[in-house]
Amino acid sequence: MNNNLINGWEVIIGLEVHAQIATKSKLFSASPTEFGAEPNTHVSFYDAAMPGMLPVLNTYAVDQAIKTGIAINGKVNKISRFDRKNYFYPDLPSGYQITQMFFPIISGGYIDILLEDGSNKRLRIHHIHMEQDAGKSVHDIAPHFSFIDLNRAGIPLMEIVSEPDMRSSYEAVQYVKSLRNILKYIGACDCNMEKGNLRVDANISIHKPDTPFGNRAEIKNINSTKFLGDALDYEIQRQIMEVEAGRKIPQETRLFNSNTGETRTMRSKENADDYRYFPDPDLKPLILEQSRIDKIKNELPELPEARKKRFINDYKLTEFDATVLVDDKTVADYYEKAVNAAKTPTESAKSIANWILGELFAFLNKENKNINELLFPIEYIAYLVDLIQDKTISGKIAKTVFADMIETNNNPKDIVKKLGLEQIQDENIIKQAIDEVLKNNPKQLEQYKSGKTALFGFFVGQTMKLLQGKGNPEMINNILKELLDK
Ligand code: ADP
Ligand code: MG
Repeated sequence: MNNNLINGWEVIIGLEVHAQIATKSKLFSASPTEFGAEPNTHVSFYDAAMPGMLPVLNTYAVDQAIKTGIAINGKVNKISRFDRKNYFYPDLPSGYQITQMFFPIISGGYIDILLEDGSNKRLRIHHIHMEQDAGKSVHDIAPHFSFIDLNRAGIPLMEIVSEPDMRSSYEAVQYVKSLRNILKYIGACDCNMEKGNLRVDANISIHKPDTPFGNRAEIKNINSTKFLGDALDYEIQRQIMEVEAGRKIPQETRLFNSNTGETRTMRSKENADDYRYFPDPDLKPLILEQSRIDKIKNELPELPEARKKRFINDYKLTEFDATVLVDDKTVADYYEKAVNAAKTPTESAKSIANWILGELFAFLNKENKNINELLFPIEYIAYLVDLIQDKTISGKIAKTVFADMIETNNNPKDIVKKLGLEQIQDENIIKQAIDEVLKNNPKQLEQYKSGKTALFGFFVGQTMKLLQGKGNPEMINNILKELLDK
């Protein structure tokens, strides 16, 4: 059953994600890739397409693509090839882009995403190919001139092309988030969407189930997951309205305007033929040794999925909690740092997860902050849990300590001392408090004795109140039982 139908229409989405490979130099030249430099300072003769300049393939970039292919469960092709995609564009001095049109480096693959109901869905990847980025035209410096910045020309990209497996904007956003997380875990891409490290072209169409797919619109160059969701939601409504008004959806390329939240036509879709692809004669086919692939496979860092399983097994977390924690590498790293700082890591792991996902996330959300912007070390969460574990404070008092901690950024151990919040464990003090409560509530005591045992909780509450919430609850319970039942 498909729960995503809108008015009987099924939405079909496939994404092409352009990920800038995290390298120091460009794909075919030694120019730096660093972001934010003065325009045209990272341009070699090759990048500027001076006659006679030849490409030299960046093997590190190739390794990153291989690593990505393995991480998304794809097949690494031992033979791939670079082709020229010809078109005229001012920010492309050579008049062609080098890409892998016919024989990409990675074929197939998939990633699993988490749906809103907690279940998983597998989304297939068609292939990954490598290509160069183009330069940038700048139109807003002077009214009658356009400027060109070639710093970006030739920066290595991976284009990760999905199958049309997504059925809602939610799934598309989850896909990009999961993919981004994997790329970050393996270090193949910094995935800073504001810097354009990760850009998405979203293909979207609608049809009635069990009929052929409809014509698709391709929304170009989306640079945030929020914009992706907004652009797709707008486009879904637009296509349904068009079709229901009896009009046809043309196959076209559209642009999303984040100010208006609308998409508009950019051009009608060009065909592969228009680009006159042919193998680049300056580059040999890329042939990979099995040993190189194996080496990269063996050195692959732990992936989110494996980390999640480890969290569930070792730290006894629920699937949901583990998923949320590994979903952001920074959060997962912080979590493990805290766990390792606890006196009893294995016993405290679950409680630390609860504090991070509950109180800490609520605080971060409210302040609109990321976990790496905290002004106290994450180990403080572990110290807080230590204090509960060794019964210095109760869980309830811990909330007071937490509130003080996020305000003062002080160590919970010091806060407990400063505010005198240590739990009262002295049997005599607790006994005295109970005696007083029983003395002050003779009526309730009589009712209890004549069978109204539900009043037990009332006495516990009164005693706790008298001890200003600091009494050890277990001891109060035990001593009270002893005194009442004698
Ligand atoms: P092209 O060669 O024109 O780029 P592809 O077949 O490579 O087209 O597909 C590009 C992307 O569009 C892929 O991610 C694919 O999943 C997606 N796609 C293909 N057909 C549809 C469709 N009818 N609706 C939505 N997405 C589609
Ligand atoms: Mg394509």
